[in-house]
Amino acid sequence: MVGEGSPDLTGIKGDGVRNVVESAYLAYASCSVCPRNCGVNRLEGEMGTCRTGVFPVLSAHNVHFGEEPPLVGTRGSGTVFFAACNLSCDFCQNFPISQMDYGKPVTPEKLAEIYLDLEKRGAHNINLVTPSHIVPPVLHSLVLARQWGLKVPVVYNSNGYDSIPMLRLLEGWVDIYLPDMKYSDDLWARRISKADSYVAANRAAVKEMFRQVGRLVLDGEGIARKGLMIRHLIMPNGLGGWDETAKFIAREVGTEATVSLMAQYFPTNRSMRKPLLARRITEEEYDQALEILFQENLMEGYVQEFDSEWRDPSASEPAEIPETESGRKIA
Ligand code: SF4
Repeated sequence: MVGEGSPDLTGIKGDGVRNVVESAYLAYASCSVCPRNCGVNRLEGEMGTCRTGVFPVLSAHNVHFGEEPPLVGTRGSGTVFFAACNLSCDFCQNFPISQMDYGKPVTPEKLAEIYLDLEKRGAHNINLVTPSHIVPPVLHSLVLARQWGLKVPVVYNSNGYDSIPMLRLLEGWVDIYLPDMKYSDDLWARRISKADSYVAANRAAVKEMFRQVGRLVLDGEGIARKGLMIRHLIMPNGLGGWDETAKFIAREVGTEATVSLMAQYFPTNRSMRKPLLARRITEEEYDQALEILFQENLMEGYVQEFDSEWRDPSASEPAEIPETESGRKIA
């Protein structure tokens, strides 16, 4: 089993917050940490779909420049990549980490030290990548890091298959939510990512995230301080259902929602053997996705150029997109 160990809560100052962290770990006893609700006892060494024990497995951590401009700024995002995942996407672009579980178990104390070190190295934020299956120790690490002096915003960078009770425990500890909205049809979520009821769980999670942190707020230098940014990866053959997702965002979150539309899909992992997934998106599919963005008036955010650079969608009309400057912040 990956991520074995027992939590030690004695380092947390304050009974109230210690109780909150303890209640998060209790969800491990019959695991309901994510919407899969596997019901295994992770405290006793059982494993569910995410193959993870009590503690996270850390794959990598570094100051990273591959995210959207308000996360990267001038000094980079302090990115912490966790191994394993509660989804199993045929096209996962990080499958050695998410499905082959490359990495080493790490305690919440060690994680807190890593966050502080990334902050010391100048990172604008701490960016937790794929945390949905390990919320209890992640919360534990955030509490310790804040009590030890962490100042920069914390980014919860998830696949969007998140549990509402876990998100509620994170309230006040996460500053920026960065969820995917991968699908608008459960059929494709099940076939491609092996997830049941993804659409309802994902939409409920996004609404809860927005309730907690509201719209994205940037500081005077264009660096994100707080709020929600929704990501959607454009998939070939319309499998991601972007039209319905865009309608949901405009209707339920509001047209002021910050959306990051990503064009970097490429076939890898099992998707190379599946005809509908085994190619990049076409330029026509890319243009259609942008048209939907404009139709729904989702003008706050970023799109990747067809060659994967970031740009501000409010800067031009869709027909002019290939000629626009990349990487500009929201107007
Ligand atoms: S966190 Fe892991 S074990 Fe728990 S419900 Fe989700 S997939 Fe299952």
